[in-house]
Amino acid sequence: PSFKDFMLKPVLIKALMDIEFEHPSEVQQQALPQALIGRDILCQGKSGSGKTAIFILSTLQNINLIRGEVSCAVLCHSRELAYQVNEEYKKFSKYMVDLITVASIGGTSIKNDGGVFKNKKKCPNIVVTTPGRLLVLVKNKIVDPTQLKTIVIDECDKVLSEEKMRNAFDEVFKLTLNEKQMMMFSATLSNEAKEICQKYTQNPLQIYI
Ligand code: AMP
Repeated sequence: PSFKDFMLKPVLIKALMDIEFEHPSEVQQQALPQALIGRDILCQGKSGSGKTAIFILSTLQNINLIRGEVSCAVLCHSRELAYQVNEEYKKFSKYMVDLITVASIGGTSIKNDGGVFKNKKKCPNIVVTTPGRLLVLVKNKIVDPTQLKTIVIDECDKVLSEEKMRNAFDEVFKLTLNEKQMMMFSATLSNEAKEICQKYTQNPLQIYI
């Protein structure tokens, strides 16, 4: 199989060629087609299996670029991971000139974020952040939760097993519309974590490899 089989936009195929991604990994072959049609995903695959590219490609392919609206949030367990994931987004979206992604990370000024997000020319389409920070963005009316069409949780076992993070996510989740895509990824997934994840997804494609 080739990435060309997924009918991705030429701008994504071009970026994939630049970073020398030719053949989708096993987990990508399983998850990408369903992610691309908007299905919820609950995916456990060991680190290095290529999970990141699944949600990056899917969100970049499907995003409706409305300037001034944050339509996708990617939630990470740590600031470091959020920063890294945002760097990955930049590689894959290199040729999507109208797309803006931002890492909004605790420790940086929320006031600054407010300025960026409220500026129509700079407002990101995708925010990569932590659950606590997303809640702050929502509470400060910097991100409108009803505009989120896709929410990704990377390392969802860690994010949802930590009470503080889970509560923050839960608070935001309740403010989002029913009609949205949820994608959750993890290297490990205990039965307990799996049950929690299922509360936030609707008929997810479940992958355990
Ligand atoms: P991940 O499991 O998402 O952290 O990815 C592990 C590493 O594999 C990263 O450095 C990716 O850039 C790389 N990678 C993921 N998928 C592919 C692929 N289909 N072809 C080549 N490299 C890949």
